[in-house]
Amino acid sequence: MSPESSFETEPQLINGNGRAIADGRPTSTSAAPGIVAPQEDHHLSFAQSVSRMVNQAASFLAMPSGLLEQIQKANAVYQVSFPVRFGDEYKVFTGWRVVHSEHRLPAKGGIRFAPIVDQHETEALAALMTFKCALVDVPFGGAKGGLAIDPSRYSPSELERITRRFARELIAKGFISPSLNVPAPDMGTGPREMAWIADVYRSQCPSDINAMACVTGKPVTQGGIAGRHEATGRGVQYGLREIFRDTKMMKRSGLDGSLRDKRIIIQGLGNVGFHAAKFLSEEDSARIIAIIEHDGAVVSDDGLDVEAVRAHMKKAGGVTGCPEGTYVSNGAQVLEAECDVLIPAALEEQITRENAPRIKARIVAEAANGPVTADADEILRRRGCIIVPDIYLNAGGVVVSYFEWIKNISHIRFGRLGRRSDELRGSDLVDALHSVTDRRVSDTLQNRLRRGPDELDIVRSGLDDTMRQAYLEMKLVMEEDDRIDDLRTAAFVVALKKIVTAYEQLGCTP
Ligand code: GLU
Repeated sequence: MSPESSFETEPQLINGNGRAIADGRPTSTSAAPGIVAPQEDHHLSFAQSVSRMVNQAASFLAMPSGLLEQIQKANAVYQVSFPVRFGDEYKVFTGWRVVHSEHRLPAKGGIRFAPIVDQHETEALAALMTFKCALVDVPFGGAKGGLAIDPSRYSPSELERITRRFARELIAKGFISPSLNVPAPDMGTGPREMAWIADVYRSQCPSDINAMACVTGKPVTQGGIAGRHEATGRGVQYGLREIFRDTKMMKRSGLDGSLRDKRIIIQGLGNVGFHAAKFLSEEDSARIIAIIEHDGAVVSDDGLDVEAVRAHMKKAGGVTGCPEGTYVSNGAQVLEAECDVLIPAALEEQITRENAPRIKARIVAEAANGPVTADADEILRRRGCIIVPDIYLNAGGVVVSYFEWIKNISHIRFGRLGRRSDELRGSDLVDALHSVTDRRVSDTLQNRLRRGPDELDIVRSGLDDTMRQAYLEMKLVMEEDDRIDDLRTAAFVVALKKIVTAYEQLGCTP
């Protein structure tokens, strides 16, 4: 697997003019955009867009005056510039770590390596982490980090030096710590970068017995947890299953309550988009009718082989020339094609007030952070489209990060203590059934009963349960207040209620 293929989402970008962006500088390319860089001409910035959605939800809640302002503001922003020497040349890199909230600690959120990274984007993403953690009962505050860099321009050993140096800077200022601030993968980073960060922390803080909990999303062989790498995509699958189980939502969408044969369009085949598409097509029999990438799209009404598209992308760097389906150069147009579910799994601000009126999907499932702007959200809702919000749908990553952090501070793999005893109990049950009846339990059921859960089973069960519970909480909010009839507002209301309670119970810090 190439290093890039393990990234949460792929970092290569094309801006609205069809120009590739690298280290903040546009470079010329003839590619047609399928994933566009966040647009500069919105009347709201990404951070303002998130803030407006939060304010809208807050208008349904009573809270002490001034508290919303505190909840909305980032608590701390650290910007750092540092040099790395390559031969005779010094290159200066700039990065950020934003702590949005600390009503629970540690603060949690990924580190993004991408040319578009800046302070405002990092602040908006950190805010989303606050609400995401609260919604899915991950007892952490919100944070986010980023480095303005195009990782595809550097060799693995150069990236290692850059990442290690960035980590040193963040650790030195308390912006990476198992008890205060715990990064994870995001766009342009993956398990490899997390292993480097953990190694730097361990060497700088050798007496910290919980050193491995300083970062999550590590390789399983480096203190990671089974199922973390695919967790965000898995959470998208579980979240969509919840929607399809909800008869009221299904009635509203005009779809029947099964994912089988549903026509799905995915924007972005990075780690999140790839796993979501793979699981939905292989396990729920949904049809992936289009995959949109930075250089266009591939489409097939019969459904695409997601693994084959991914394999081509690994070799070719995009979907151009992909033998699967039909190549369409105008990726942006495919976003607007007829489908049941549209899954933006790339970047923020992909559906804006400009293209929202032309989106035909019945359900927009936000696997990326902030792919629908506040303006577009209103337009889509008015047109009857159901939006499954990012803070719910892509929470799988941070949920399993939480499990990894618990594993690290407990210093034991999940299932290690109880698995064998569960297996013995299952065997006893089968034997008891056989001894009191003259019928035999089927081999499949016997195998299931005799098998104790391993770490992956436990992680999946915890994630499934979390997605189910959070969905129920959103549903309850909509049932209790008939002014709230969209999942995003419901999600923010659930999250805000929990954050407000935490602040009120903590009292006023001196
Ligand atoms: N970067 C992921 C997100 O945006 C995961 C964060 C984490 O695991 O801390 O949710």
